[in-house]
Amino acid sequence: MKKTKEEVTLALAGNPNVGKSTVFNALTGLHQHTGNWTGKTVETAVGFREKNGKRYRLVDLPGTYSLMAHSAEEEVARDFLCFEAHDGVIAICDATHLARNLGLVLQILEVEPHTVVVLNLMDEARRLHMDIDTEKLSLNLGIPIVEATATKGKGISEILSAFAKPFPEKSYTLTYGEPMETAISMILSALCEIPCAEHKKRFFALRLLEGDEAFLKACDARFQGVFSTEDVENSVKTARAYLAKKGIETQDIAEILATETMTQAEALSRAVIKNDLRPVAFSKADRLLTSKAWGIPMMFLLLMLVFWLTVVGANYPSEWLSSLFGMLETPFYEFLISLKLPLFFVEMLTFGLYRTLGWIVSVMLPPMLIFFPLFTILEDVGYLPRVAFNLDGAFCKCGACGKQGLTMCMGLGCNAVGVTGARIIDSPRERLLAILTNAFIPCNGRFPAMIAVASVFFAGVFHGNSWITALVLALAILLGVMMTFLVSWILSHTLLRGTKTSFLLELPPYRRPQIGKILIRSFLDRTVFVLLRAVTVAIPAGILIFLLSHMEIHGAAITVWLSDFLDPLGVLMGLDGVILLAFLLGLPANEIVLPLCVMLYRANGVLSEIGSLSSLLETLTANGWTWQTAVCFLIFTVMHSPCATTLLTVKKETGKVRYMLLAFLIPTLCGVLLCMAVNGVLF
Ligand code: GDP
Repeated sequence: MKKTKEEVTLALAGNPNVGKSTVFNALTGLHQHTGNWTGKTVETAVGFREKNGKRYRLVDLPGTYSLMAHSAEEEVARDFLCFEAHDGVIAICDATHLARNLGLVLQILEVEPHTVVVLNLMDEARRLHMDIDTEKLSLNLGIPIVEATATKGKGISEILSAFAKPFPEKSYTLTYGEPMETAISMILSALCEIPCAEHKKRFFALRLLEGDEAFLKACDARFQGVFSTEDVENSVKTARAYLAKKGIETQDIAEILATETMTQAEALSRAVIKNDLRPVAFSKADRLLTSKAWGIPMMFLLLMLVFWLTVVGANYPSEWLSSLFGMLETPFYEFLISLKLPLFFVEMLTFGLYRTLGWIVSVMLPPMLIFFPLFTILEDVGYLPRVAFNLDGAFCKCGACGKQGLTMCMGLGCNAVGVTGARIIDSPRERLLAILTNAFIPCNGRFPAMIAVASVFFAGVFHGNSWITALVLALAILLGVMMTFLVSWILSHTLLRGTKTSFLLELPPYRRPQIGKILIRSFLDRTVFVLLRAVTVAIPAGILIFLLSHMEIHGAAITVWLSDFLDPLGVLMGLDGVILLAFLLGLPANEIVLPLCVMLYRANGVLSEIGSLSSLLETLTANGWTWQTAVCFLIFTVMHSPCATTLLTVKKETGKVRYMLLAFLIPTLCGVLLCMAVNGVLF
């Protein structure tokens, strides 16, 4: 008689996009069939492989970031691991994103200790010079680890062999510290009747503690009501009351569990990644920078500090540069005259081109040279993901995804980059939310104008106190963040309704910044980029404005006609027609709005010297600006249409003109309305 082979069922689990299908295909070849999980639209695939006299049945679970079941995929994966018979799990990880992937592995170990981790994409990890100590990771997790490059078939045959060898005695257990552990044990004592493995009971106790209703219903169906006995219910009540006494409310439990999982996953990942970017005093810093009480105030203070350093540092070079341009203006003018150019041309080149250039270089360059390296340091050290982490809860409350915080940080650099960055958000609905609200965060191009206006109008009043400028700027960013929340909330309750997904936010380790690289990158990628864009757009615009202001219709220059036309709306918004015209002409690049404003004022009759901050104040006040105008200008700078490049990027990313129009209309309308409200109510 033919002996039937022993069948071993293994589930393949992993984050989306880690090469799970590639591993599955490599393992099973053509021996697979696909279908849907009963009652779900989630696809399933089962395949077979024979090895060492055993028949392996491989079940491909849907790709998930966690087992907390906030989506159909997560529910399917979790229910399979909890309720379906299986002999082990193959957890596929992306070696280049170890921390995030280990988060899921730790959750899997809570339900299935018989797990083999496949560290896939090792070729990518090597390309990134990541040196991962796999043996140490295996030792720390207490399970076998196989390195793989699935696309080249490397490591595939070792996966099933790893199941054939004996496993270490004990695998890693996620522990949650006191008082959580005491609460867990209170519930565990009521679960002894449940017919399942001991380690799974701990997982059930945790779900009972956090009150995951859908899961508990599924458990009850599975275990014939064992979960809703009086004993269990009482134990849950007692455990929760105990936690409440220790200051932990029931609604916070899920978050504490998720945070602890993430922290431990990061610690495990940090302990085994050796590369030249050494992590620095991570956990201590994080306890402060991402703590509930201090995370957000620290963020605000840090932002203020960055602005303060920028303003203080930029003052002197700005003065020097403006006097240099001032000194060279007459020789430049005389040189052009000596070329025997027509006077009109000479004036156009001196007052249209040279002064614009002088203004841009002396007012915009110094703050950029300080702000961008500081911003790049924060980026390089790994602080920006912490910002996203701190804002995660608020975004979730708005029906948006915490990763939107990251795209927001990217927007602080450049809104077009922020819009493209929204690809990291998996749900299309949440991605659109991030795209449509990105312009509320002022980009590189808008900072210099904000810094200049805040310096001359607010710090000036307080004897040039740079902390005031820093405070005003930080408040402007805060306004942008608040508007992002508000608009995300409104959109997710109107146009973009839908269910919220959940994900594990990855916090990379802090890294020692590479100062040389930062200086070069922030200078080339940001400073030179912004300056060139400003110069290349502002010079033709400067010449255009010079021409328009010298062409007259019915005795008045065209620029005067245009600004007069916009004036009523401008005045309602606490601004004027010239400012609105500058914003309109600045659509190709936000960098040039303030220089355009100054040029338009000069063209309309009031001339002033080049670029120093004091001459800026003089020009603006001579044209009716007050500190109220400055407030409305700052509000409108935070909230108006993103530049043309960003709008085109929105069209490209969403494929729809309608979303591009929305990306234009939403911030612009918000800006117009808020300026009107502030102007009407406060002033
Ligand atoms: P899944 O979403 O987890 O099922 O991932 P897939 O199997 O569809 O793989 C996602 C992408 O990663 C595909 O483009 C694969 O070709 C690629 N990929 C998978 N494994 C590797 C690997 O080991 N190295 C590299 N460089 N790419 C891989």
